[in-house]
Amino acid sequence: MMKPVSGHTQLYAVLGHPIGHSLSPVMHNAAMEALGMDALYLAMDAPPDRLMPILQALAAHRFGGVNLTIPLKEVAFENLARLDESAELLGAVNTVVFADEGPCGYNTDGYGFLAAVRDDLDLSTKDRNILVVGAGGAGRAVALVCAREGAASVTVSDLDEYRAENVVQDIHRLKRVEQADTAVGEDALRAAARTADLIVQATPIGMKPDDPSLLPADAFHAGQAVFDLIYMYPETAFLREAAAAGARTAAGLGMLMHQGARAFELWTGVQPPLEVMRDALAKAVYT
Ligand code: NAP
Repeated sequence: MMKPVSGHTQLYAVLGHPIGHSLSPVMHNAAMEALGMDALYLAMDAPPDRLMPILQALAAHRFGGVNLTIPLKEVAFENLARLDESAELLGAVNTVVFADEGPCGYNTDGYGFLAAVRDDLDLSTKDRNILVVGAGGAGRAVALVCAREGAASVTVSDLDEYRAENVVQDIHRLKRVEQADTAVGEDALRAAARTADLIVQATPIGMKPDDPSLLPADAFHAGQAVFDLIYMYPETAFLREAAAAGARTAAGLGMLMHQGARAFELWTGVQPPLEVMRDALAKAVYT
């Protein structure tokens, strides 16, 4: 049944360009409905060069808050006058809070990753040896929050050595970990996997159902934890190989849920029902 909407309904939105694919409305509307809130979460297209006037208009319309997705995260980082340290760390904004002093940019992706690793793998990244495979936007965010949280070491692997090296330099600038290095090429990746306590898969390999695993089972071992950022399947080939070797594994749905939950909390001051959000996402992506 269609949700009743009135002039009192509090509006929220995710902005992107394009925006059709976003799963944020599914999880936020499920949480708002479960809490009995008179609220609605929309998905809206926003071309990058129109982002700032659109944010101004949504603030004037008293929107409760906004999420940003590709390609707007960096545009907001460049243009918002106020940024939380989470956005400063990652150089990108995925959540905007409309405050009296003006809009403020946050980034909840790092929080989402750490919370998912804690909940789904029962692991804290502090004092651990972390291997991140993939140095794009998501891999960079994961590597930087692991460094900020005091990992023992962070190793970054990517097909593009220059991209991996850039992330390692950003980690060194934080001055939080003793050891940060790249692992480029098959042998270096296998060697880094051998000594890692947590291996994070942050490439798009695995998004297609027949994508191969980037590492074979004998590259993993029992006692390790392995997290795949891909959220459209409960298990990717990467996680299957890791599980076959006895490693603990988790897919990316929990990260998607926790980054959304943190945004919800920033806007409303209310902790949303996590299981409701997780179930809504799982139903949308797995069925
Ligand atoms: P991206 O910007 O495309 O970055 C992926 C990086 O991985 C690129 O540098 C890419 O290099 C590299 N790569 C590709 N194949 C590789 C291989 N075989 N070995 C090593 N590196 C390889 O993507 P992204 O935005 O960071 O996202 C990465 C994945 O995380 C996606 O699957 C996305 O859906 C997922 N994600 C999940 C969440 C969540 O909440 N769970 C959040 C964000 C992202 P090239 O460019 O040279 O190919």
